[in-house]
Amino acid sequence: MNRGKATAISVCACVAISLAFTLTSCDGKDGVSKKVIVIGMDGLDALLCERLMDRGELPHLDALRQAGGYKPLATTIPPQSPVAWASFITGANPGVHGIFDFIHRNPARQYAPYYSAAETVGSEDGWEVGDHKIPLTFWPFSHHPTQTLLRREGTPFWDYLDEAGVPMWIYDIPANYPPSPSKHGHMCCLSGMGTPDLLGTYGTYQYFAEDVFVPKEEGGGMRKSLLFRHNEAAATLVGPRNSYLKTPADTEVSFTVYRHPTNATARIDLQDQTVVLKEGEWSEWCKVSFEMEMPAFLPNKDVRGICRFYLQEVHPTFRLYVTPINIDPSDPGDQKVTEPADFITDISERLGLFYTTGFQEDHKALSNGIFADSEFAHQADYVLTERMNLLQFAIEKYDEGFLFFYFSSTDVQAHMFWWDSQDEHPLRSSGEASRYHRSIVDLYKRMDDLVGELLQRFGEEATIMVMSDHGFCNFRRQFNLNTWLRDNGYIQPPECRKLTGCRRRFHDRCHHVNWSRTTAYGLGLNGLYVNLEGRERDGIVAPEERDALLNELSEKLLAIRDPLDGQPVIARVYRTDEVYWGPFVAMAPDLIVGYHRGYRASWATTLGDMTDKVISNNNSAWSADHCIAAEEVPGVIFSNRPILHPEPSLIDLAPTILGEFGVSPPETMSGRSVFDPAPVAMTWNGDRE
Ligand SMILES: [Zn+2]
Ligand SMILES: [Zn+2]
Repeated sequence: MNRGKATAISVCACVAISLAFTLTSCDGKDGVSKKVIVIGMDGLDALLCERLMDRGELPHLDALRQAGGYKPLATTIPPQSPVAWASFITGANPGVHGIFDFIHRNPARQYAPYYSAAETVGSEDGWEVGDHKIPLTFWPFSHHPTQTLLRREGTPFWDYLDEAGVPMWIYDIPANYPPSPSKHGHMCCLSGMGTPDLLGTYGTYQYFAEDVFVPKEEGGGMRKSLLFRHNEAAATLVGPRNSYLKTPADTEVSFTVYRHPTNATARIDLQDQTVVLKEGEWSEWCKVSFEMEMPAFLPNKDVRGICRFYLQEVHPTFRLYVTPINIDPSDPGDQKVTEPADFITDISERLGLFYTTGFQEDHKALSNGIFADSEFAHQADYVLTERMNLLQFAIEKYDEGFLFFYFSSTDVQAHMFWWDSQDEHPLRSSGEASRYHRSIVDLYKRMDDLVGELLQRFGEEATIMVMSDHGFCNFRRQFNLNTWLRDNGYIQPPECRKLTGCRRRFHDRCHHVNWSRTTAYGLGLNGLYVNLEGRERDGIVAPEERDALLNELSEKLLAIRDPLDGQPVIARVYRTDEVYWGPFVAMAPDLIVGYHRGYRASWATTLGDMTDKVISNNNSAWSADHCIAAEEVPGVIFSNRPILHPEPSLIDLAPTILGEFGVSPPETMSGRSVFDPAPVAMTWNGDRE
């Protein structure tokens, strides 16, 4: 596309749109104008949708299909949520938005993994006063306080609509924390996946029980001992870290638990609140205030959060689960989860307290054995109910412009409950496995009802799209890429067990990696990197040797067979210099490993741990996944307008949305509207170029 021409069209379109829409605020405004509604259902699977539509179980979605408003939606390489949603947001491939995996590494520090979509940058500087260190943010000190930065690059489609004066409401959008600013004030946005809890993690539950003898931290939570004396026990909730201390330390709040001596009830006294629960009962949201101690001449800081208590068992073994401490939506303080900052308090005034973390369904509590299946299902259902209330709020506010609403349930519940085969389930009996898979079908039906309601309310006047970022499949066997690389001589020494945490002088003793003899390594769920000279700090592969090494690795990976049944493990190996383009390709993994359905990267390999076996059973409650070859797990696009694009893809949705408002897509968006037929030159003989 000619850039000058595109810009000129954009400017004309902006003027036209600006006349149609006047400056709005999050309060909405009267008047009827263009309406575009996009409902994002994470992980809604094309194959399951088609099967259920064929059986008449999704009547509203099927009606859209009958009218030509359905296609499978090609997902990103790799089909991981942050990658896929970043492509939805920017209308561009990962080479433009720079998100390639949940986990990236810093090549200057050789193997230093971090969460790809956001990075917390700590303050190194500060004015030291006694035990404290206070960043002075003004000139000439200009210390940077600890802050979280959005690492997604590229321009989101909403910036172009903002410039064009289109009012927008965007709820729970993934890969946008902290929320990107609205320069022209037309956008209200609530951050979704990637938003941390008050501890700065992606969800840390706190579990208190009599049978925890050694307190421990585990992925996603903390287990703590509870010792009763005369049926009374003291406990502490851990809060955010006080980074104003020279040696940062966690804040804490004490609470007291009173257990009824004979009945299955308990009372919890937390600050000025009293909660009485029966066994098996959840509390409402409780507010909790953590005090950050400051130097004597400054007032202490209060950081406010919310949590819910779940009394799992009273007798014989007392067990109490506390949700991750969420940012308090009624009083978020310095924590910005919406754009504009006060949009969150508007929502809270209407809806009260609700989950503000990006990952709301506590799948870690299930994977770690704190929750039983039914307890996870109950908590996940609560999350969905809260989101449905939020959607009602969104609909009441909305009268024109763009509305986006995101559901995580179709992804997180599927990770835990999806199992669509007769193969033995990692943890459940076949009866349980099919019962829980049925709950996923029920969830799809609930989503179909929701689509019916939206069509009834807005179908005549709005363009409605229902889309997902990828599909789903069983995750039966796990592949340790780093073990395979070690066993094939790419990682050295042969007895190596770990890529992280190695101090170089201990190479020979600690079974850690020796980078001076290692040519390739795996990181994250799909990434494979060459230990490249001039890029990696300890790189040894000369740039002219890279091509041959990548070809050799691809060939060998595609030839791998599962010793259990001879099945191929890897369906596709993508070279990122062939499938990506844009300014950030150089930061990408060299290869993306695309597994077959049923297989995925092992839990250990994602952060560089090696196991005895290359391929083993996945023995986790997280028994379905989608981080495999993109072609194997397409998402969906439904609309109340015919979809004429023959093979729509995620990157087509941003240009589609812009097109609906008459705004031309920028050059970085390589897709085109799904409502436009294929260009004649591409389809004259029925083939796609
Ligand atoms: Zn997803
Ligand atoms: Zn997922």
